[in-house]
Amino acid sequence: MDLDKLKEVLAGEPKFRLKQAYQAIFTDLIADWRDNTTLPPKLREKLDVECPLELKATLFGSKNSESLKILLELADGGKVESVLLKHADGRRTVCVSAQVGCPLGCKFCATGMLGFKRNLSTDEIVAQVLFFSRYLKRNETEHDRVTNVVFMGMGEPLLNYDSMMEAVRILNSKDAFNIGARRISISTAGIIPGVEKLMREDLQINLAISLHAATDELRSELMPINNKYPLEDLMKVVARFARAKNREVMFEYLLIKGINDRREDALALVDLMRIELFMVNLIRYNPTGVYGPSNSAEIARFKNILSENGINVTQRYSFGQDINAACGQLANKNQ
Ligand code: SAH
Ligand code: SF4
Repeated sequence: MDLDKLKEVLAGEPKFRLKQAYQAIFTDLIADWRDNTTLPPKLREKLDVECPLELKATLFGSKNSESLKILLELADGGKVESVLLKHADGRRTVCVSAQVGCPLGCKFCATGMLGFKRNLSTDEIVAQVLFFSRYLKRNETEHDRVTNVVFMGMGEPLLNYDSMMEAVRILNSKDAFNIGARRISISTAGIIPGVEKLMREDLQINLAISLHAATDELRSELMPINNKYPLEDLMKVVARFARAKNREVMFEYLLIKGINDRREDALALVDLMRIELFMVNLIRYNPTGVYGPSNSAEIARFKNILSENGINVTQRYSFGQDINAACGQLANKNQ
């Protein structure tokens, strides 16, 4: 799918044709121009050749699974994974990838171990949401649609800023997916210039920070990017973001046995979180071969220390371990 090409083909047509084409792609969710009824037949034929809508992807999981994963094939042969999370409360969240691989090499993350191949284009990001939108329309009730999008798949979204942001605008656009900015979240390992840029956008988008350690020593060991953007600077800019947007910021903290789940780790985290709009989301470490996950008692103890100190803390429900679709497990292993 190539939205620039679509604009090019329709450039000589009356303006409303583009709107009709968008409606066909994003609302009617057609996968073949022959299923469209609003554009003139000649134009449909042309689009069929120059702008095909087919998406090539392999699906993992089944209709009754609470999460589904796709391996999306890109035009150059690259592959990325995306996940649909079906929440019990009816939310349908797509977790999208922003890059093929990731250059940041966090030690606990399967994607990080792949290394970096390239940035995704806007269309490639949008295609991930489009695939699941079509899937829901075909397989669930007619009204089921993607309600939320999180940039928590493969790669670092703030290192692919322009394509990521353009994709966000399409997700948000009334003419396309019409997903509210408050239902779109960007997760970052802490790219400070990216957070500053995001702060200047006019959208009320959510920010999540992959923290995972509350001291520079430990964080730099787990996440090399901390050497470039150390905690003190990162926390300052995130506090500015939260205040400027008046939005809660989520700090993701995965619990790795014996590494970052001790009492002193929890207390160091409490010190960083003493800002009203900050909240912690605890994630059980999904094994990727390097470390071990904290057990339930250790997670409960860690969580209690935070709550007792007045920190707003939640625990992430883990989807999709059975299909290697859980956080940090996306590494094209099923291909
Ligand atoms: N690069 C961005 C976006 C990817 S989000 C970021 O790191 O924020 C993926 C989330 O899953 C991040 O919070 C990441 O730290 C977390 N994660 C990585 N490996 C994990 C693992 N093995 N178990 C659980 N969560 C993991
Ligand atoms: Fe990249 Fe995020 Fe994985 Fe770190 S956790 S390697 S930043 S995808």
